[in-house]
Amino acid sequence: MLSTTLRSSALAAGPTLRRSLATHTPFYEKDCSSITPPYAQLIGKLEHVRELLNNRPLTLAEKILYSHLNDPEKSLSGGGKIRGESYLQLTPQRVAMQDASAQMALLQFMSAGLSQCAVPTSIHCDHLIQAINGAESDLKRSITSNKEVFDFLESAARKYGIEFWKPGSGIIHQIVLENYAAPGILMLGTDSHTPNAGGLGLLAIGVGGADAVDAMTGTPWELKAPQVVGIHLTGKLSGWATPKDLILHLAGKLTVRGGTGRILEYFGPGVANQSCTGLATVANMGAEVGATTSTFPYTENMRAYLNATGRAPVARAADHAASMGFLNADKGAEYDEVIEINLSELEPTINGPFTPDLATPLSKFGSFVKEQGWKDELSAGLIGSCTNSSYEDMTQVADLAKQAKAAGLVTKVPFLCTPGSEQIRATMERDGITSTLEDVGAVVLANACGPCIGQWKRDDMKDEENAILTSFNRNFKSRNDGNRLTMNFLASPTIVTAMAFSGSLSFNPITDTLTLPSGKPFRFAPPAGQDLPTEGFTQGNTNYYPSPTPEPQPETEIIICADSQRLELLEPFPSHFGNRGLELPPLKVLMRVRGKCTTDHISAAGPWLKYKGHLTNISENLLITAVNDEGGDVNVAFDYDQATGETDTDTIPAVAKRFKARNEPWTLVVDDNYGEGSAREHAALQPRFYGCAMIVARSFARIHETNLKKQGVLPLWFADKNDYSRIGSGDVVQTIGLADLIEGRQNAEVKLKVTKRTGEVFEILTKHTMSEDQLKWLRAGSALNFIRSQLS
Ligand code: SF4
Repeated sequence: MLSTTLRSSALAAGPTLRRSLATHTPFYEKDCSSITPPYAQLIGKLEHVRELLNNRPLTLAEKILYSHLNDPEKSLSGGGKIRGESYLQLTPQRVAMQDASAQMALLQFMSAGLSQCAVPTSIHCDHLIQAINGAESDLKRSITSNKEVFDFLESAARKYGIEFWKPGSGIIHQIVLENYAAPGILMLGTDSHTPNAGGLGLLAIGVGGADAVDAMTGTPWELKAPQVVGIHLTGKLSGWATPKDLILHLAGKLTVRGGTGRILEYFGPGVANQSCTGLATVANMGAEVGATTSTFPYTENMRAYLNATGRAPVARAADHAASMGFLNADKGAEYDEVIEINLSELEPTINGPFTPDLATPLSKFGSFVKEQGWKDELSAGLIGSCTNSSYEDMTQVADLAKQAKAAGLVTKVPFLCTPGSEQIRATMERDGITSTLEDVGAVVLANACGPCIGQWKRDDMKDEENAILTSFNRNFKSRNDGNRLTMNFLASPTIVTAMAFSGSLSFNPITDTLTLPSGKPFRFAPPAGQDLPTEGFTQGNTNYYPSPTPEPQPETEIIICADSQRLELLEPFPSHFGNRGLELPPLKVLMRVRGKCTTDHISAAGPWLKYKGHLTNISENLLITAVNDEGGDVNVAFDYDQATGETDTDTIPAVAKRFKARNEPWTLVVDDNYGEGSAREHAALQPRFYGCAMIVARSFARIHETNLKKQGVLPLWFADKNDYSRIGSGDVVQTIGLADLIEGRQNAEVKLKVTKRTGEVFEILTKHTMSEDQLKWLRAGSALNFIRSQLS
């Protein structure tokens, strides 16, 4: 079934498009002026790229990426292989940010000094809403407890003309799909499940705040050209199998790392049969295999979804773009790997616990539970989230609830439902879905992330081993209820619902029966659903919604309380150079970091997340899990006093703070692949905040290296990796040749003059990856300082 060879596919061309016969009339028509893609411009650029690439056939992912190149000649000039090797400078069409990650992104954007965003941008209040009792009271409480963050986000949105979706409006990815996503565009989101929007045939990529700020300031955004994996879908889903089962099955095949540095591009006759929201579920969970993003060729179901969500002008424009060949792969396009999946053979799948790639077909799940020696008990069922909260999901689940109610059954365990958006919630309520679910025991929570991100105040299971089934996308330990002993299994909403009526993990609704109070057996019929509401969607409470394309209001004061512990204005970082020429000042070595040092080691997550918008507070976690190569201890650094020859030992952030207090710039010596892991901008901001001017590495992880450059920290590579161990804490390092490099002298080399604590002096050679533009950032003190300087 799995073909790993590079091959050409005649099937790469998407399905033939016919005019839509969709009958789902929207109740409203949106202002589509800012959401209709500039197809003529994109197609024009793609034509130019085709010439540069000798008219070779392109995958859909390549078409979308290359039509968003900032300067095609520059990005594609290498002549060699592009996918997996070249770095692309891209201009995304749009940015979406959730309330937790938007804080630092906005603080950085503010320090660029621009009066508005370069691209349409939206903020979504969803992650900070805690689920306890139900929608109304949960929402009120969360608005009060997070007031300062919401006030900050709302005021910044008003000032810069950003669309602000209030608490209660829904989950970022569902709202993006319903309102902003459009076939063929490239967009960024500051959340890992941004690829959800790929259900509408675009490339939506999850990034850190610093990358979002690139797009918001009009700076080209850099991406290593991903490889493209073709997923060839044949056959048709039937019975209990859903799109969720397709991605659960694929996660089992690819594992959590199988998609790294790759785009998953689905093609073949099996695509057209799926609803748009079903495709969004598949794209959403592509994040679980580490994929850059996922996409699909334009289909009639996408057109129907655009029409049903009030975006007929976008559908018409997409129809035209599709007729020009823009929204599907070229015939003969080559993929880096092709995976074959016959949808007719798929059965429901359950993944977990604790990892999304441990996939077990439903028919084998009962014996799997037995073999592991787990209790055959389910403690709760949860449906919804950004992954599975579509109208289709909810109507299928309601169908099962109706069957159960007619038979006199109610759920045996707590059954929680989080609608993905106010539009879904209101439509569910209007169409009787909510009451159907409540009739059998469901609790409907606020339209927010809630239990999916640990915002579930669960009182029934504390520190006890138990099993829950969810239709969410992630199942790391503690993710839902904070209890490391809760085993979280992922399944389709319909399997979760059926299991909630049985209360047992080994129940297979396809083959097994439940016993009715009368003693008679009851078996569910396969769930029936409807992808779009016959009467159209209803918007619900429009007070939660922004006005479309709001004008910036520059006079708005951004609200940050002076004594806030969660938010702090960012002071622009000063340039390292001042009037003293273009060599860095002498830098003291803070420490030599040993071995693996990811962005998690540099800026730990967990309890520190609440300080994401407060650089001073979050910097208290700088490198607290890093190993000092001099002694081998974690979170230990030495403060050496040249004058007295004495050394104080303290934590790493404490020593960094002392250096900052003494106005003593410093450097770090680090090992291989420094800064691997998530693209967390805090890992670059925090050392810079304490006065770090340069980091010298055996090697850098590319994204972190770029983040350091953006914050005005010079990343240098040892020309000879053995030099790593020649430099230690308390030594002083000076650059030689940096001025030549900044001034653009040909063949300029940067050397380091090292003065050891013992007085010994030697020079070593380094390498660098600084571009001309990045040297301007370094000179200005940061990329944002440079942008601001261009305004004046
Ligand atoms: Fe992330 Fe879950 Fe919220 Fe989706 S519902 S955005 S996966 S926290």
